[in-house]
Amino acid sequence: MNNIAHNLEHLHEEIRSVCKTSGRNPSDICLIAVSKTKPAGLIKEAYDAGQMDIGESYVQEFLEKESSDQLSELPIRWHFIGHLQSNKVKDIVGKVSLVHSIDKLGTAEELSKRASRKNIIVDYLVEINTSGEVSKFGLPPDELLPKAAHFFNLPNIRLRGLMTIASPDRKKARYEFRMLADLLEQLREASPDPGLLTELSMGMSQDYDIAIEEGATMIRIGTAIFGSRQR
Ligand SMILES: *Cc1c(COP(=O)(O)O)cnc(C)c1O
Repeated sequence: MNNIAHNLEHLHEEIRSVCKTSGRNPSDICLIAVSKTKPAGLIKEAYDAGQMDIGESYVQEFLEKESSDQLSELPIRWHFIGHLQSNKVKDIVGKVSLVHSIDKLGTAEELSKRASRKNIIVDYLVEINTSGEVSKFGLPPDELLPKAAHFFNLPNIRLRGLMTIASPDRKKARYEFRMLADLLEQLREASPDPGLLTELSMGMSQDYDIAIEEGATMIRIGTAIFGSRQR
């Protein structure tokens, strides 16, 4: 077994174990392998080990890998998890199964426009800056509910839940994950179609165990699968 297959197996064991102690069902948690800065060959290794959900953070890098000889024919579910500028939206529409990182109404409007032009429906999450760190992207938590009706009303896109990147401190991270789960609950109450709002994308290599305990339905793991990164 290669390293990546081994890391994935270990991770699945850990996920099962956290689920057991926290009363969660492992099948309710989608593991997304985050491959930013890593070559297509390593994604292929993960895919061959059964990993179908792949997360990328940079538009250009994503496009190169998605269209590469090694990967273009595979039924990979691509997740776009990096910061997304409005002018890049058109490049990824139709190529990703979920956009995790919409952090402005304007970007959602652009996503809606591009999806409408292609006559497709695009699923997305709103990224929330739960830590309040100015260096982080994300909509401030208190701006979500006032804008919710606008997000709900945009044609050809469907809001499916919320995403966050937590503080490095584990105590703070738990508080921030809890805040995201609470916000999703409030969003459901405001929604004309609460059944769509099912996803909490939270937890990375350092804190996915806490995220699962606090209700994550998607965890985004890079380092623990592919090893450390230079940038
Ligand atoms: C890089 C990245 C991850 C994965 O981080 P690791 O600590 O390597 O597991 C998850 N989510 C986002 C948004 C990222 O940019």
